[in-house]
Amino acid sequence: MKSLTGRAKVLDNPKMTFKERIYLPAIIGGITITLRHLFKRKATIRYPEEKRTFSPVWRGMHVLKRDDNGAERCTACGLCAVACPAEAITMTAAERKPGEEKLYREEKYAATYEINMLRCIFCGLCEEACPKEAIFLTDRLVSTDYARDGFIYGKDKLVEPVDKRVDVSKRQTPNVLEFKKIKHYRHNR
Ligand code: SF4
Ligand code: SF4
Repeated sequence: MKSLTGRAKVLDNPKMTFKERIYLPAIIGGITITLRHLFKRKATIRYPEEKRTFSPVWRGMHVLKRDDNGAERCTACGLCAVACPAEAITMTAAERKPGEEKLYREEKYAATYEINMLRCIFCGLCEEACPKEAIFLTDRLVSTDYARDGFIYGKDKLVEPVDKRVDVSKRQTPNVLEFKKIKHYRHNR
């Protein structure tokens, strides 16, 4: 029958050959492909028993660093929050009081500092924007949680413990490491 548009296609439905009717060659072909993949290197791993090794510059959970004397480096300047494309960082600034010099490196410090890990895309722009070398991304994973509130990381999770420092030296170029050895620069004191 001729169609109105003339674009109709008449499909052939040819009779199956004997080889196609017994299905055996197709089944053997399928099994061969399966066996071939069985001995190939697997793309998946048995997590959590097996873990992949991360690159030294892999971008995971952030750390807020302390200086050599244990004082918090962050001065609540807000540059990381401005640089963050995901608007994941919020903070409130406070003024350092006399006697708190050992706790906070600068006259202004972050009384609260929060990162919403559900918003964060781990781009590392906060790390690049920070003029105080206070925030770095690390190779640590952000833990899973059942509630959204659990992904708002405050200073309790972000600031490194005095007695358990987080090594970020592999994230820094040799030039930066050399610069940091020059102790008469205020930046390095
Ligand atoms: S890594 Fe990127 S998205 Fe995450 S807090 Fe830093 S700037 Fe924002
Ligand atoms: S982490 Fe760095 S950029 Fe962000 S507020 Fe603190 S000092 Fe400023």
